[in-house]
Amino acid sequence: MGKRKFKAESKRLLELMINSIYSQREVFLRELISNSSDAIDKIYYKALTDDNLTFNQSDYYIKLEADKESRTLKIVDTGIGMTQEELEKNLGTIAKSGSFSFKSENEIKDGHDIIGQFGVGFYAAFMVADVVTVVSKALGSDEAFKWESKGTDGYTIEPAEKDTVGTEITLKLKDNSEDENYDEYLEEYRLKEIIKKYSDFIRYPIKMEVTKSKKEDDSDEYVEYKEEEIINSMVPIWKKNKSELTDEDYENFYQEKRYGFDKPLKHIHLSVDGTIRYNAILFIPENRPFDYYSQDYQKGLELYSNGVLIMEKCADLIPDHFSFVKGLVDSEDLSLNISREMLQHDRQLKLIEKNINKKIKQQLLSLQRDDRESYEKFFQAFGRQLKFGVYNEFGVNKDTLKDLLLFYSSKEKKLVTLAEYVSRMPEDQKYIYYATGESIDRIDKLPQTELVADKGYEILYFTEEIDEFAIRVLMNYEEKEFKSVSSHDLGIDSEEEKASEQETEENKELFGYMKDKLSGKVKEVRVSKRLKSHPVCLTADGEISIEMEKVISAMPDNQQVKAEKVLEINPNHEVFQTLKDAFENDKEKLDLYTNILFNQALLIEGLPVEDPVEFTNNMCKVMVAQ
Ligand code: ADP
Repeated sequence: MGKRKFKAESKRLLELMINSIYSQREVFLRELISNSSDAIDKIYYKALTDDNLTFNQSDYYIKLEADKESRTLKIVDTGIGMTQEELEKNLGTIAKSGSFSFKSENEIKDGHDIIGQFGVGFYAAFMVADVVTVVSKALGSDEAFKWESKGTDGYTIEPAEKDTVGTEITLKLKDNSEDENYDEYLEEYRLKEIIKKYSDFIRYPIKMEVTKSKKEDDSDEYVEYKEEEIINSMVPIWKKNKSELTDEDYENFYQEKRYGFDKPLKHIHLSVDGTIRYNAILFIPENRPFDYYSQDYQKGLELYSNGVLIMEKCADLIPDHFSFVKGLVDSEDLSLNISREMLQHDRQLKLIEKNINKKIKQQLLSLQRDDRESYEKFFQAFGRQLKFGVYNEFGVNKDTLKDLLLFYSSKEKKLVTLAEYVSRMPEDQKYIYYATGESIDRIDKLPQTELVADKGYEILYFTEEIDEFAIRVLMNYEEKEFKSVSSHDLGIDSEEEKASEQETEENKELFGYMKDKLSGKVKEVRVSKRLKSHPVCLTADGEISIEMEKVISAMPDNQQVKAEKVLEINPNHEVFQTLKDAFENDKEKLDLYTNILFNQALLIEGLPVEDPVEFTNNMCKVMVAQ
């Protein structure tokens, strides 16, 4: 029989395969094994409807045979086989469904990614072989045929001998080159490794003869012998029934998959039978990976198509705010074939992501409700990511995430949810109060919290940089607005409030003088309504808080955003009288006191003193003056 030519687009794809510097050549095996598995499926489905055919599980398998001498690798299957016409049609053309064709060089370059993720099927064989021979006998036929090709110049088909139904593909491996060692595909360990990685959950056994050794009787010597072994584990844990599985099974799987060195805090096993069908196993890790909050960390779930791994880290499957989740998704509805439009995959992945997002949230909420200790552990590890999630993308995910947040409470002395806070609010309390600072200890001592705490209101402590930014995006919770204890209007109608306004008015000149002395460092000096025992504090008017100013100015592209600082003086503190006296009698002293009080307020806020030498000199002056 004469030589036949490949269809044009097949030829282009073939060129790509032959010349590719494609980094994951090993996927050729995944592609061929998937084809074999599909071919066995076809017999299986036929047997379901054809009474003359019985499907005896043990008759169906895939087998690898490597021969180092001839440098050939054979993939044998007992699937449905191909007739002469099918060999011609299936292996002479690609893109039978027609939607896939290379139009430009660019698309060929893009093709590299596509092969890695979704594969190009049979043609991948040419990534490692320069001669590919397919001998096949179709079910119901008594003749076999041999298809053979050495690459782009075409292929031949001729009658062949084969006793049993099925297909046998022989790859004559390419010569080793400087960059590439093709011999590795003849090594047992390497073949095992590739099968474990990509095809572990193929439903049918993948057999291979492996070398073993044993001790001879009456001798200390080991002898080697060959034995056929099934390499794949066949039934994936995610296709098993949840009720058959124990926590330990999931833990072992987590370890086996090397999702982390820790134990999972929680697993989520999904079997979804909706618009798009899929199984998933997801894990919430116990510990934060060391690189979690760094650029190096890559989120993603493993993506399988019917038991075959098509992508190791599919980022599209998991939203950023849950980027700590490990696991996999397996869907029959995602075809391994690129001849389906990629766009369609995108839409399917989006649907799965949406669903997964919902499930993770549900599980976290139930953990929060039923096992608070574990939830707190989780939150210590990944809470910051949830807060970033609230803040990012202008808050599109804030409603998903707000109930997952925890903050330290001044009253409960532990982490509480916003719902818990609001449920405890006394009737006259209008706002959810918070205070920012470096640590719980420091906030405990913040003078600004005095009035609110005195009123008996609970205060949430914000100790992380992101906290206040996230809360600004959140704006309110159950219609209760958030309010910093440092904000000008605390929303507390009190005697202090009225008195302070009056006193500020009465001492207008003193405060005006002090403000001028601080030359632009504060927007105003006024009498405080929030201080009970401390002499001074700093607060901020306007949108930017002092804490936010600190965060923003520490950012690499240091934007000059400043809080509108206000120096507040406690009218009930003796210092106030001292200031008033100095204003009347000794302006030089007042200058000194103003500088000292302002610097003290900076220190309490955790802000640097601008001129520490001047500050300490001023302190000494006061001491000497006594
Ligand atoms: P795909 O599998 O994505 O359709 P391939 O290029 O891998 O594309 O294979 C083309 C066709 O060749 C398959 O659809 C199938 O009909 C047939 N085929 C490939 N390998 C086998 C096999 N081992 N046994 C039976 N048919 C096969």
